[in-house]
Amino acid sequence: GLPSRSSFKLKEINEFYFPHLHAKLEEKCKCSGSNRPNRRKLIQPGALILDLGAAPGGWSLYASTQLKLGLGGAVVAVDLLSLDETLHSCNSDITSRIRANLQSNFHFIQGDFTMNETRKRIMGAFANVSKNIQNNDSAGAIGRRPNLVLSDMAANFTGDSDTDAIRTLDLCERAMAFAAGTGCFNPSYSPRDGEGVLEDGGALLCKFFTCGRENEAELMDAAKRAFGSVHILKPKASRKESSEVYLLALDHRKKNAK
Ligand code: SAM
Repeated sequence: GLPSRSSFKLKEINEFYFPHLHAKLEEKCKCSGSNRPNRRKLIQPGALILDLGAAPGGWSLYASTQLKLGLGGAVVAVDLLSLDETLHSCNSDITSRIRANLQSNFHFIQGDFTMNETRKRIMGAFANVSKNIQNNDSAGAIGRRPNLVLSDMAANFTGDSDTDAIRTLDLCERAMAFAAGTGCFNPSYSPRDGEGVLEDGGALLCKFFTCGRENEAELMDAAKRAFGSVHILKPKASRKESSEVYLLALDHRKKNAK
């Protein structure tokens, strides 16, 4: 089974919200006559996934069940903490459960994703993903990039809900800047390596806490510039009394990001 409440949120978004949203988008596209690929789930069997704030590993584990090895799917997971450090005894050995699904196409990187050094490791991990793991064929793997960036990152809680919301919103903004090259409105932020790492057409799913501040509106505006469709989701698995929501941004458009 899945180890955490978090993983049920991702499952719900993948299996319920996404198909629903996609059906609506397809309906629109039919009218304009364009041809969209038929996507039933957010996590495609050959997806290249970057999971930011991955510990204790629930999202990575769920994602690994959705990928098909022969299709070259991979998960690169990043956290300040190691996966094992944060494990509850009942979830033991999460890394081997993920590896059972993905073999060497699972990479865990311990570090702060905002640091250049961590970003180099992230990009290096994607560059080395094998396209066809059965034949151990990594030829042509160079230059591969994620097409789905997930962030369930949260800043350590201070107990003050406003401070917590602002700090987590800041992480979300940085995840979007890294994924989609949207930059940051926080004046203290200077761009780091790898901004805009997401493939054209790719998607971003990012957690934050609503607080009604200006930053939130700015985050939405940046998302709307860089993606074709943007949605705020509140999964049923997320506690009602929590202000936690997920921003799902689909169809990344590189040229509009800045
Ligand atoms: N999605 C995970 C799961 O299903 O098991 C749960 C993620 S937990 C809610 C949030 C994580 O974000 C924490 O483990 C924390 O260490 C991580 N985090 C916070 N800031 C980070 C940063 N700057 N870089 C990397 N990870 C970070």
